[in-house]
Amino acid sequence: MSLPSAAPATLDLTRRSIAYFSMEIALSPALPTYSGGLGMLAGDTLRSAADTSAPMVAISLAHRRGYFRQQLSDLGLQSEVDVPWSPETLPTAGKTIALTIQNRQVQVRAWRFDVTGTTGHIVPVFLLDTDIDGNDPWDRRLTDHLYGGDTYYRLCQEAVLGLGGIALLQALGVKPEVYHMNEGHAALLTIGLLEERLGSRRLSEASDADREAVRRQCVFTTHTPVPAGHDQFGLDQMYQVLGHDRGSAVDASGGLHNGLMNMTYLALALSRYVNGVAMQHGKVSQIMFPEYKVHSITNGVHAATWLSASFQELLDQEIPDWRTDNNYFRSIYGVDPARIAACHAKNKHRLFAWLARRTGHYFNPSVLTLGFARRVATYKRAGLLLQDPDRLCAIAEKIGGLQILFAGKAHPADNAGKALIRDVYAAAVKLNSEFLKIYYVENYDWELGALLTQGVDVWVNTPRRPYEASGTSGMKAALNGVPSLSILDGWWIEGCAENTTGWAIEDGRSEADEAAHLYNKLEKAVAPLFASPLAWARLQRHCIGINGSFFNTHRMLSEYIHNAYFPYESVPTPITPSEVPGEITKPALV
Ligand SMILES: *Cc1c(COP(=O)(O)O)cnc(C)c1O
Repeated sequence: MSLPSAAPATLDLTRRSIAYFSMEIALSPALPTYSGGLGMLAGDTLRSAADTSAPMVAISLAHRRGYFRQQLSDLGLQSEVDVPWSPETLPTAGKTIALTIQNRQVQVRAWRFDVTGTTGHIVPVFLLDTDIDGNDPWDRRLTDHLYGGDTYYRLCQEAVLGLGGIALLQALGVKPEVYHMNEGHAALLTIGLLEERLGSRRLSEASDADREAVRRQCVFTTHTPVPAGHDQFGLDQMYQVLGHDRGSAVDASGGLHNGLMNMTYLALALSRYVNGVAMQHGKVSQIMFPEYKVHSITNGVHAATWLSASFQELLDQEIPDWRTDNNYFRSIYGVDPARIAACHAKNKHRLFAWLARRTGHYFNPSVLTLGFARRVATYKRAGLLLQDPDRLCAIAEKIGGLQILFAGKAHPADNAGKALIRDVYAAAVKLNSEFLKIYYVENYDWELGALLTQGVDVWVNTPRRPYEASGTSGMKAALNGVPSLSILDGWWIEGCAENTTGWAIEDGRSEADEAAHLYNKLEKAVAPLFASPLAWARLQRHCIGINGSFFNTHRMLSEYIHNAYFPYESVPTPITPSEVPGEITKPALV
């Protein structure tokens, strides 16, 4: 994907009825404006919106110095490097707005990145930027680092996103009917809407009817049951950054929880539709937030972004309408499995050629290859696959060879995550043998994510239940005919048809138990099937036909449009006790 040219298309923004707010959006492999799954999902959502002509605009921050580039030392120690880029290469939004943060006037401008769909429809993304002459030097750095700095920095950023985003839309004459908060980071947009509604009246005069009017415009998607994923701020800090009036409005709106400002609770209180990102995640979130009705809309991926060139070529020949209508993936059953296997073989060669060029490590294309790449968070348990090295080595020898590729970044402040990378790295060095090859690839990003999900044979996921809200990398794999071997958590509960789209790793009473289940499946189910090329090719076709046709953002966006943005019946129904599912372990409350 290339950056848009300098001459912007003229767009009639007054007809855009959906405003999508996200702290991170993966817009192009060349731009460092995302950290992981949340930003990928946001980008894929907008790409599907552009392909299907949805009347959407989006708001995010410029993140001028990016998230970071990961470097790993010989010992697997992570260090981080800034990724500076110049939004000045993009057209401007043409308006600058002013925002008060802790009694300082902060000027905010925006750059426009156009997401252009397959039929030419444009979804403009406004990237807010405070690096302007005249701003306080500290404020100029406010839109530099995605998830950087301390809580003060973060709250200021969230003020820019939520309050600044609303002010910008107003200045541009955009009058959305629906505001979608992709995660709680954007929850201050509700206070911006309340102010807009009140006009010259003060926030302290807002009535329940005013708040209800805001609530009717807002949709909120929560993305994780992990407590650290829900931003909280001390009340002193809230009043310090937002000032008395806005701070009190957060309080009066229900945005405090356990004596802290809580972005999730603010979003919950002022949204008419709330959802989790997979069936089970909706249920888990319902237990976490029993006062609010929580729906589920299962995530997806943007097919044209994640499908390899070889598969795109095949599909363009056989079912060309897949680009605008992903239901056509179901028609893959009219394609000879051998052609699917041939596409995958190309992808595997491409991945290994890239690896050899970049790292000097040679992997064998005829050997069963597992992929495990994700943000390194302890609940994702990157080490589970290596829990019993002797067993793993024995399996590798018995089945005639095994290769494993790992990748993933730890947040710069996450020392436990960094230690996990170092451990996997050390194990890899120790276990490498004639039969077993393990390599940890540096700097997991969009490009590497595509290469890996397209090129390995089996995608592995080992989260601790029920903390994987959805996961989307396994969906990218499925679309490319790559089955998953995964704990039944997140999307995989919906995507796993045993021996058909992949395999479930059964629950165990301990990590050792679950590792044993993983090894059993690998040895007794995965490897024997891999040894039969025709059976494997049929499995690859099922991955595309069953899972590719459903776990895509075209389907997901249409669910948002019909269930969340413009529902047939938008009167909220109170939740009854019988609707609260009981069988799921309650995660720690935020
Ligand atoms: C798809 C993707 C993710 C999200 O995948 P999960 O399955 O949620 O871990 C994260 N990072 C990158 C670079 C990706 O491409």
